[in-house]
Formats: sequence, C-alpha cells, structure tokens
Amino acid sequence: MYLIIDGKKLAASMREDIAARAASAAEKNGRRPCLAVIKVGSDPASQTYVKNKEKACAACSIESLKYELPETTSEDELLALIASLNGDSRVDGILCQLPLPKHIDEGRITDAISPEKDVDGFSPVSLGKLLSGKDSFLPCTPAGIIKLLKSAATPIAGKHCVIIGRSSIVGKPSALLMLRENATVTVCHSRTEHLADEVRRADIVIAAVGKAKFVTADMIKDGATVIDVGINRDESGRLCGDVDFENVAPKCRAITPVPGGVGPMTVTMLMENTLKAFEMHCKKQ
Ligand code: NDP
Repeated sequence: MYLIIDGKKLAASMREDIAARAASAAEKNGRRPCLAVIKVGSDPASQTYVKNKEKACAACSIESLKYELPETTSEDELLALIASLNGDSRVDGILCQLPLPKHIDEGRITDAISPEKDVDGFSPVSLGKLLSGKDSFLPCTPAGIIKLLKSAATPIAGKHCVIIGRSSIVGKPSALLMLRENATVTVCHSRTEHLADEVRRADIVIAAVGKAKFVTADMIKDGATVIDVGINRDESGRLCGDVDFENVAPKCRAITPVPGGVGPMTVTMLMENTLKAFEMHCKKQ
C-alpha cells in the first residue's frame, strides 16, 4: 500500500506554528511581519496565486499589502515601486507574481528586489548563497519538497534522486537542496536521451515539467517516492500534475497528489521566509 503525502495537512500544521511565532514576535517588536505582493496585469492563474498568498498571510498572522497594477505598467514604473518597497522599513518581504507581461524583463525585476526582502528566493544573491551552502531564503517550492519528503520519513542520503525539469525556480534549486541532503542527483530536461531509463533508476522522482501525465507507471521503480510539482489541466479541464497518479501510485512507496501536495507547501514556505525576513529586520533595528 502506498502513502499519499498530504501537503495540505502538513501546510496547515506549519501555518499554525508560523502564526504562533509571528504573533509572539509581533508582541515583542510592536508590529507584525509584512509581505508586499505585486501583480501586474490580469492573468487568471496569477489572480488565484495572489489570493492564496493573501489567505495564507491571514492564517499566519502576517500583514499583506497588495499592489495590483495594470497590464500597461512600464518596467520603470514597476522598478520604482520595488525601490520604494525596498526602502520601506515596515515591509519585510517583496514578491512580484510571475509571469509578467512580455514588455517587462523578469530578470531585471527579480534582481531589483533587495536580497534582504527576497522571500521568493529567486534573486542572484539568494541563489548564489544556496549554491555556496550559506544561510539564505530558500526558493519556496524546492524547500517545500524537502519538507514533504521528510514528513514521509523518506530516506534521502545516498539515494538516487531524478529531477525532471531544470528551471531556476524548481528544477535547479531542487537539485542543490537534494545534494545538500546527500542524495545522488540526476537532472533531466527536454534534451535528455533515454529519459525513461534515467527515471527508472530513481529512488526519488521530482517531476517539474508542466505536462499532464508525463510520468507514466513504466518509468517508476517499485517502491520509489514521487513528488509531483506540475500544475496542469487534463482533457476534461480538471487540475492535474505531471504524473499519471492513478497508475503510478500503486508502484510507489509514497507520492504527492495534485492538488493538495506541493502547492500548499510552496505558499507555506513563503510565509516561513517572510517570518525569517521579519526576524532578521528586527534584529538589525
Ligand atoms: P518551466 O517551463 O520553466 O520548466 C519546465 C522544464 O521541463 C524545463 O526544464 C524543460 O526542459 C523540461 N521539459 C519540458 N518538456 C520536457 C520533455 N519532453 N522531457 C523532459 N523535460 C522536459 O516550468 P517550471 O519549472 O516553472 O514549472 C514546472 C511545472 O511546475 C509547471 O506545471 C508549473 O505550473 C508547476 N509549478 C508548480 C508549483 C507549485 O507550487 N506546485 C510552483 C512552480 C511551478 P528544457 O529546460 O530543456 O526546456
């Protein structure tokens, strides 16, 4: 029998703990932790993600400031808002919801967020610190994946982890975090030859491709643990991951569902990073 790794339950218990720590830190410091969330344009998925982040802030006793800018916002206008939030001592974390409209260079925007407020962990400073093993804001999805694996008592050290996907927000930082946990890591991508053979050797599979039911049962070794990062829609429009859950799950030791797996943990790790930023700022004052 396989274990379904319940990200919703783990996220709920972590949020309770964050709320208690945030409330006691607020009492000591005379203000609550504060996250500024910027959304440009009206992408419906971004709308949902921003709403989820607001809800999580409320559950975690974190103040949230929302900036909803029109699609026509220029890069300079967005940079000016980020500069003012960087200089605002009441703001601990800044998040700019991606994707941005095509006329805005996402790299310039993430680079503009002060490393001290980079609660998404996407800035070159945060990623550089992660690479060199220094304390930093960990990118939220990879950090959530490690928590999920540990919650399911998954052996990691010395095990073979295959990650499908090499994006800067999921695949690459997940590889670094799994290395930090002493896994042996293989990163696959669209140019990988014999991908199914690579995945079949994995004790732990992390799928971050963005293609519905991409990972099929024949790719999975018996007893593997599978983390499904993907958020897709199936033929009938239902939310699904990158893994063909129904057929893959019976071969697994443990597996995350979509929805209710990685997603809630990503938002929760954002809350954890915001509290960490708040604690760092209070220490400095
Ligand atoms: P990207 O599109 O940035 O990266 C996708 C990766 O998959 C790329 O590295 C790409 O390879 C690889 N890939 C695409 N096709 C194939 C293929 N046929 N064979 C092997 N590799 C392939 O996506 P993200 O990393 O941003 O996100 C991945 C998925 O995770 C999406 O569904 C996204 O919505 C979801 N997501 C979920 C989150 C959550 O909290 N649950 C958070 C973030 C993302 P190449 O580099 O060669 O192009």
